[in-house]
Amino acid sequence: MVDFTFTEDQEMLRAAFREFIEAEIAPHAAKWDADDYCPVELWPKMGEVGMLGIFVPEELGGAGLGHIERVMVIEEIARHSAGLAIAVFTHHLCMGAILDGASEDQKKKYMPSLCDGSKICGLAVTEPGGGSDYMGQKTTGVKDGEGWIVNGRKCFITNGGPADITVCTAVTGQDDRGRNQLSCFIFEKEDEGFGPGRKEHKMGLRGSWTGDVIMDEVRLSADRLMGAEGKGAGVGMKAIGEIGRASMSAIACGIIRGCIEESVKFANERVLYGKPISKIQAIQFHIAEMRMWYEASRLLTYRAASLKDKGQPAITEFAMAKGFSVDMSVKASQNAIELMGGYGVMNEYPVERFHRDALASISSGGTTEIQKLIIAGDTLRAFTA
Ligand SMILES: Cc1cc2nc3c(=O)[nH]c(=O)nc-3n(C[C@H](O)[C@H](O)[C@H](O)COP(=O)(O)OP(=O)(O)OC[C@H]3O[C@@H](n4cnc5c(N)ncnc54)[C@H](O)[C@@H]3O)c2cc1C
Repeated sequence: MVDFTFTEDQEMLRAAFREFIEAEIAPHAAKWDADDYCPVELWPKMGEVGMLGIFVPEELGGAGLGHIERVMVIEEIARHSAGLAIAVFTHHLCMGAILDGASEDQKKKYMPSLCDGSKICGLAVTEPGGGSDYMGQKTTGVKDGEGWIVNGRKCFITNGGPADITVCTAVTGQDDRGRNQLSCFIFEKEDEGFGPGRKEHKMGLRGSWTGDVIMDEVRLSADRLMGAEGKGAGVGMKAIGEIGRASMSAIACGIIRGCIEESVKFANERVLYGKPISKIQAIQFHIAEMRMWYEASRLLTYRAASLKDKGQPAITEFAMAKGFSVDMSVKASQNAIELMGGYGVMNEYPVERFHRDALASISSGGTTEIQKLIIAGDTLRAFTA
């Protein structure tokens, strides 16, 4: 059976989140963008309504729901603030890595405060040497008695400034063919030698902190190694490939939806030649295109999330959703700007912000070329007659 409808519970949840977002997020989104301010004070409130731990088992402080509901939260936030949406999903990204790779003791130690929003977290893998070259990382973790000494620099890290907890990958050895083996480590804000470096100034997705994370001779006890030594590459990649890409797709869906809503409102209100421009067929075509891109993006995004909820592999589906939806959000935000004439580029309207947010979404979670490599690899295998 193919069923593309949300359950009644999911729709009720969406309505509840929408109410919260319209009260707490929508009115401030333009200012957070202008000031490039990440509203960290919202974390406990988002924790209280269940947004942060939505996909986390109840025994660890979460709501015990799934990835469809998690994606729903991100789409709803991104409809108003794609900047805050990337900060929230990066919190999910780190939690996903902990759920997947950490010991039971580590989960019990860290997850409850991440679910209730008393702590903020992030995942740091990208380095100046190139995010696409995941296995070419230079950060090192060297054994020091029972513990570790970690040195390196990560760049473009969301939540790198405000995070209390950061999961980072580091090279801890080589295999017998000389290839890097990565391990994941859990850092706490107070760790000596660990902390944020320079903050980047981005064109879009503002309202989230993005920048360097520095590890300078950081001494970690053995219990900060997350998962088995040398097995961290898969944990980081799984979190990015599933939670990261699902979320970037959801952000794109939120942006496209925002573009449609703003365009419909504007087209009905703007009068030219004595009638609303919504009566002009060329304007309707802009709107029709955006609707097609929205529906197709949503189908790809929620289908991939539903596969994940069923425990089925979905790496290619997440790559397709991410690559396609982000492209469509760039096109839709350009359509919205064109439809609005000069008003489209005035920051009195949010569509110029949506366009900046869409462009800034291209590389996060892996660039479009990287998504295409994943999709092509799968297609060459799966479509062999
Ligand atoms: C807003 C934002 C937030 C981010 N947040 C985080 C975060 O929280 N944590 C984190 O770890 N990282 C984060 N990143 C980093 C992001 O994951 C990287 O930007 C991404 O992986 C690309 O790496 P890069 O920017 O170094 O580009 P590069 O890897 O240097 O790529 C440069 C170009 O080369 C192309 N390219 C590379 N390899 C190939 C190939 N094999 N075939 C074809 N083309 C190729 C790319 O597509 C791109 O066009 C964030 C980035 C942004 C913009």
